[in-house]
Amino acid sequence: MLNTSLPVMDDKEGDGVPTKLLPVMDTHVHIFPGQIFQAVWQWFDVHAWRIRYQMTSSDLLEFLLSRGINHIVAMQYAHKPGMARFLNRYMAEKCREFSGKITGLATVFPGEDEAEIILEQAFDLGLKGVKLHAHVQCFEMNSPEMNKLYECCQKHDKPMVMHVSREPKSPAYKCDPYVLCSVDKLETVIKNFPDLKICVPHLGFDEILAYKNLIEKYDNLWLDTAMTITDYFPIYESVPLNQYRSDRIMYGSDFPNIPYAWDRELKVIQKAELSQNSLEKICWHNGAQFFNINKI
Ligand SMILES: [Zn+2]
Repeated sequence: MLNTSLPVMDDKEGDGVPTKLLPVMDTHVHIFPGQIFQAVWQWFDVHAWRIRYQMTSSDLLEFLLSRGINHIVAMQYAHKPGMARFLNRYMAEKCREFSGKITGLATVFPGEDEAEIILEQAFDLGLKGVKLHAHVQCFEMNSPEMNKLYECCQKHDKPMVMHVSREPKSPAYKCDPYVLCSVDKLETVIKNFPDLKICVPHLGFDEILAYKNLIEKYDNLWLDTAMTITDYFPIYESVPLNQYRSDRIMYGSDFPNIPYAWDRELKVIQKAELSQNSLEKICWHNGAQFFNINKI
């Protein structure tokens, strides 16, 4: 388990995306309405790490686009029942504001009233998938309320990004991710919903090897790289990117909730010994396939 003594980093920012990597889609970016963002910053300050980029949703989206990121997948998560509709409308507005450059994901609190209707309304608003977070939402992956959400996404051909790996965990969460989350539980979901596209962020940290094996076994599972290929966390099981199935790994940064420079992870990808073909897949094509995005 991670402790709260993670360092503040003052690494240098690049001016733009390394040209070798273009086009780049960042598949893991957080936006929130202002008051919720402030609560997130405060929570991270006390329980996790100092968020380096404390800006509004519009400013942070503009920040990435102006530095050469071609497309952004933006996500939120409802911390409690009753707030998802508001957040989904907010997301749809931001997608309109940055027309064509942002793909927005829906949120719902598993088990809340009308959960499937909330998702269907969000899809009608143009949101292209769903983001869930087990540490914040404390759901049991294999449960009737979750099965309803999987079925709904499968039926509407909408992908699901689920933070169901055990790290980065904090003792401040209301539930224990090491009890709720395991690669075996996710494998049951994958088997039960073979037409549901699932992405697990953070390369499945801390069960990194097990997740690497799982994407080799199933075609409906993807992983994103967010925060786990930089040297920030003490990760004991890291695997070089070039040993992964290259059509199932997506670049995602976790921006703006990061403690280091916005392009730190891009620099790692640039230096990884990857073929041009693998780079194109990780930086663009895999995300485009997963989220059904056709244009740059
Ligand atoms: Zn995230």
